[in-house]
Amino acid sequence: PEPQVPRDPSKKTLVILGTGWGSVSLLKKLDTENYNVVVISPRNYFLFTPLLPSCTTGLIEHRSIMEPIRSICRSKKGPVTFYEAEASSVDVNRKIVKIRDSSDIRGDSNETEVPYDMLVVGVGAENATFGIPGVREHSCFLKEIGDAQQIRKKIMDCVETAAFKDQPEAEIDRLLHMVVVGGGPTGVEFAGELRDFFEDDIRKLIPDIADRFRVTLIEALPNVLPSFSKQLIEYTESTFKEEEIAIHTKTMVKKVTDKTVEAEASKPDGTKESVVFPYGLLVWATGNTLRPLVRDMMASIPAQKDSRRGLAVNEYLVVQGTRDIWAVGDCAVAGYAPTAQVASQEGTFLARLFNNMAKTAELEERIQTLSSSLNLKPGVNSASVTREIEDTERKLQRIKDIKPFHYSHQGSLAYIGSEKAVADVAWFNGNVASGGTMTYYFWRSAYLSMVFSTRNRLLVLNDWVKSKVFGRDISRE
Ligand code: FAD
Ligand code: NAD
Repeated sequence: PEPQVPRDPSKKTLVILGTGWGSVSLLKKLDTENYNVVVISPRNYFLFTPLLPSCTTGLIEHRSIMEPIRSICRSKKGPVTFYEAEASSVDVNRKIVKIRDSSDIRGDSNETEVPYDMLVVGVGAENATFGIPGVREHSCFLKEIGDAQQIRKKIMDCVETAAFKDQPEAEIDRLLHMVVVGGGPTGVEFAGELRDFFEDDIRKLIPDIADRFRVTLIEALPNVLPSFSKQLIEYTESTFKEEEIAIHTKTMVKKVTDKTVEAEASKPDGTKESVVFPYGLLVWATGNTLRPLVRDMMASIPAQKDSRRGLAVNEYLVVQGTRDIWAVGDCAVAGYAPTAQVASQEGTFLARLFNNMAKTAELEERIQTLSSSLNLKPGVNSASVTREIEDTERKLQRIKDIKPFHYSHQGSLAYIGSEKAVADVAWFNGNVASGGTMTYYFWRSAYLSMVFSTRNRLLVLNDWVKSKVFGRDISRE
């Protein structure tokens, strides 16, 4: 049967994969009246990832940082079709995306094809495990809302189990040892949030075990936060020391079991040493790897054969070796870091590009109509028509002159616990590196202004106030 995409035959079908930073920024700025817009994602909401670490401790409730995609679609002028499904493959020659419903409830139709004229791939990335044994089975990731909920439950399970009657001493120590692998911003922010949770709430509510709680951060490189300036790395490391978060740098995790992390540490004299960390909770935050869809696309497009980290794109974000396919965010390689900031600027750029393309087509058609009216209808005021053609051509030229994508770095911000944050911010043509409590307030207000909808902004603000006044809710769902 013919795929059921509601189409206006006079318009091109623009299919957008994903509802993350890249795709949603595109959707928000896109004039949807110009295209048949179809959004496909297994997640029917946008997730504000910068505040995800705060959901692991209940400082922020998870729904506060989720924005339903259907509300975004409804707010658009032109209709947008949304399918909750994952794209399983893209047939570049037939211009078809195969999709399947991978949710728990599936109808008789759960696999189908969606044709496109233009395709935007914004499917993000997966968690890297480097094939290290035991990681998938025993650790928690921190990427999706379900991950944060799972961590929240497990923290409290570890705490309550440690407080169980007659628990042996060594077992209490293991259960209350929270290990984080990966000293990038995700690992650092999570370690900071965890420490806050214990200091602010657990210590008061369950004082008998509070002193046994430990957080350890393991990083393979010589320091944490490799993308931040040296001064802020030092500030973070010294703050962690005060917060009693143990940092093990130059330590590479090799294996994970249900109760231990096995690593290899490089000693100052260059020799290696095996270290075993017993843990209660293990959070794995070692960065990104390719999604299968992206890997398959790369394998099927000859021009992508030298690309390793994602779909190589040109300066207009067109996937190299294709026509009519663009990529944004963590699945695209445009020469920038895989961050929300980059993804959202890329999405906004594409919206402008597509809005312009539609306008170009409209103006070209107008020029054609005017030109033919000159030939076909004698007696028309040819001088005024010629003037209009010239005006339209000038307008067209201005619109066609689209500059390539240029990323403007607004700075890097990370929360490090104890109401302190670090920020490398571009300011008046220079870079300002700052750390401390003022930076923390800056961090909070920056995020608050970034949280997309007014509803989400209010929810987050409410959560912050609620946690400050009443403490975090430690009930285990
Ligand atoms: P995502 O936002 O990951 O979205 C991908 C979308 O594609 C999702 O909707 C997903 O469901 C969907 N999808 C997946 N597979 C398929 C498929 N097969 N078919 C269709 N759809 C699919 N960056 C910053 O700049 N600042 C920060 O403070 C910051 N904090 C972060 C905190 C955490 C805990 C994490 C994990 C990341 C953080 N980042 C931050 C990084 C940032 O979240 C990512 O760079 C950003 O999400 C990338 O956007 P994206 O649109 O490429 O992918
Ligand atoms: P990352 O790639 O930035 O860091 C992962 C770290 O894990 C690396 O430092 C790596 O050396 C380490 N690692 C890898 N394998 C290891 C092993 N076996 N043992 C020990 N350590 C190991 O990953 P991330 O922190 O998840 O960040 C992903 C992206 O999202 C980055 O671009 C980051 O900038 C962005 N992000 C930004 C923020 C923020 O701006 N506040 C917060 C979170 C994420």
